[in-house]
Amino acid sequence: MECNKISIRNFRNIEAADITFDGGVNILCGENAQGKTNMLEAIHFTSLGKSFRTTHDEELIRFGEEFCEVSLDFTDTVRRQNITVRMMQGKKKQIEHNKNKVTKLSDVVGVFRTVLFCPEHLSLIKEGPGERRNFLDIALSQLYPMYLKSLQRYNQILKQRNQLIKAAEDDRATFEATVDLWSAQLAHEAAIIARYRYRYIKMAEEHVKRFFGEMTGERETPTLVYLGSSKQPIEEYEDVAKTEAAYLELLNTRHDREIGAGCTLWGIHKDDIRITINEKEARAFASQGQQRSLALAMKLAEGEVCAAITGERPVFLFDDVFSE
Ligand code: ATP
Ligand code: MG
Repeated sequence: MECNKISIRNFRNIEAADITFDGGVNILCGENAQGKTNMLEAIHFTSLGKSFRTTHDEELIRFGEEFCEVSLDFTDTVRRQNITVRMMQGKKKQIEHNKNKVTKLSDVVGVFRTVLFCPEHLSLIKEGPGERRNFLDIALSQLYPMYLKSLQRYNQILKQRNQLIKAAEDDRATFEATVDLWSAQLAHEAAIIARYRYRYIKMAEEHVKRFFGEMTGERETPTLVYLGSSKQPIEEYEDVAKTEAAYLELLNTRHDREIGAGCTLWGIHKDDIRITINEKEARAFASQGQQRSLALAMKLAEGEVCAAITGERPVFLFDDVFSE
């Protein structure tokens, strides 16, 4: 995939820019606060339909202005395409793909595929499991529209089930009468998502080993293993029916614990990736340098898996790569 041209109006501190990119590596140089990260954010926005730095779209509109627009031309193996995003103060953002209005985010994610690496990604190794789930969700959503749809359904069901659990202390009867329905739906989506994540990590691990090995002179071997909260034997995640049954068993037989905790305790919202270097937990023991190399290896692996599945490399967006 190739990024050909971007036109920006009023995006953060960029008042107006029309830039044509070269087919190979492009480097943005500039002073601090000149707008380099903003430019990457604008490109990345057209890929995911949202910012990697904020959940408040209005923040993206240049101070004192009413609207902003980013229009990106890119080419995949087949043809030249365009994604345009417009934001107005107080209004819903508009996204167009080849001049057609996009109504659902899931219709634009995966069209222009990118891999982003920025200094914040060092948290992939050291921070909590949420960072690693986010890594999986962004990578997988760009590869499989069905994944994003399943994830959106899962989050909706989880929200409903959590509300039911919170209300259970006052109204146990309603809880007992309806919880099974939500548990069944949750277990079903969880099993589908778990298989995607399990397979992805298996594929990515090979590439992470290779890239990390190259960076460290083959002295260190990392491993990545999918950690699901259903605690089945790892290979079983390949079997959706088995995973569904395992989650259902947990969700159906531990109501008191969930009511005590006030939320759903089992499901893919509790997943993690267990990462080790030479058999030691990376989260606890990786040095700064190892964290950097490992996070970078994971991002490069994301590009390789994307290439293997879609037949073409995504566009890599590296922010401050020399500082890392
Ligand atoms: P560095 O080399 O330090 O990383 P950079 O070139 O990546 O710098 P950016 O993060 O792209 O810098 O740009 C930061 C500038 O953009 C800041 O000065 C910030 O105040 C400004 N900025 C952010 N949001 C807006 C906005 N909505 N309107 C105008 N300016 C903004
Ligand atoms: Mg920057």
